[in-house]
Amino acid sequence: MGIIDDELSEIKKLCEQKIKGSRLVSCVRYMVRVEIKCTAFKTIVSCMQFTNNYPKTPILIELKSKTLSEKLLIGLTSVCEHEAKKILGKPQILTILIFLRNFLDENPLCCCYDEINALKSQLSDPNEVIKLKQRTSQVVIRITNGNYFNNFKLQVPDKYPDETVFIESVETNFPPAFYRHMLHQAKEIARKCVEPPARKKRNEPIFKASASLQKVSEFLIDCIKRLPYENCQYCNDICFTVDPKDLELNENGPKHVERIYCSHLYHMQCLIKYMKTPPFGNKQCPTCRSPIYHHKWTLSDKLAENRWAHEQAKERELAEVEDFFN
Ligand SMILES: [Zn+2]
Ligand SMILES: [Zn+2]
Repeated sequence: MGIIDDELSEIKKLCEQKIKGSRLVSCVRYMVRVEIKCTAFKTIVSCMQFTNNYPKTPILIELKSKTLSEKLLIGLTSVCEHEAKKILGKPQILTILIFLRNFLDENPLCCCYDEINALKSQLSDPNEVIKLKQRTSQVVIRITNGNYFNNFKLQVPDKYPDETVFIESVETNFPPAFYRHMLHQAKEIARKCVEPPARKKRNEPIFKASASLQKVSEFLIDCIKRLPYENCQYCNDICFTVDPKDLELNENGPKHVERIYCSHLYHMQCLIKYMKTPPFGNKQCPTCRSPIYHHKWTLSDKLAENRWAHEQAKERELAEVEDFFN
C-alpha cells in the first residue's frame, strides 16, 4: 500500500469520528471531499487533491460554501495551504480538516465577514473602531462625530442570520429621548430582518431571513453622523449644541430637541409655536409635508384653533383699549 492509500483508509476510519459535524462525501485517490457543518450557515465543503509528489508538496485545497463569504474562503484557503506546508512529508488531510473545524468554532463571527468588512470601509476617523470579540461572538463599534459618540455592542447568535444580532448595549451622549429612539429603531430593524411582515402583499416572494448586523450598525452610525448637524425645521438653528454638556435635558424645556414622526427635529418651543399658529387641521411638517405626530402634542386641532382665536380676540381687545387711550 502506498502512502496515499494509507492516508485514505485512515481518513475513512477517523474523519467523521474525529471531526465534529463532518461528512465524508468522497474519499478516493482523485479527490477527498468532506463537508464540515458547524451550523446550517457555517458549513464548508473542502475538496482536496493529491499533488504528484505528495506529501512532499502541500495538498491542493479548494473550499466551497453556499453561505459563507467568497472572500473569507479565499483567505481561509491560503491559511490552510500554509498549515499544510508545516507538515510536508506527512499525511496532511486530517490535520487540515481538524484545522478547519477549529477555525469555525473559534471564529463564530465568520458568518458576518462581508458585513464587517463593509462596515469597516465606512469608518472615517482614527477614533472610530470595530472590534471583533471572537471568543464571545461580539462586535463592538465605536463611532464619533465631534463631541458626540455612539458605542454599541452586538451579539451574533449561533443561529445567525436566521436569528438577529442582539443589541447588548448602546452608550451615547445624545439625550435620553434620542437614546430610547435609537435603541427602539435598531431593534425594529433587526426584527424585520427575520420576521415576515404581518400582512403579506400579493405576488410577494416567500420571506427569507436576512442578515441584520450591517443594517443595525448602519442605522446607529447614521444617527451619530447626521443628528449633530440637523436643523430645527422652524427656526433653522442647529438643534444639538456643539458640546453635549450644554444640551437641554429637561424634556419639557424650551430648547429640548424633539423628533417628530417624520424624523425631522424641532426645539420644543418651536414645535409649540408652530402648532399654535394657523392654519389648523392636518398640521404638516413644513419641510417634508408629513403629518405631525408627537406624543407631547395631544391637543386636538379644533382646540388649538379655538385657543388661537381666543388669543387673537384678546389681542384685538387690547389694541382697542390702547386706541381708546391714545
Ligand atoms: Zn427651533
Ligand atoms: Zn418632516
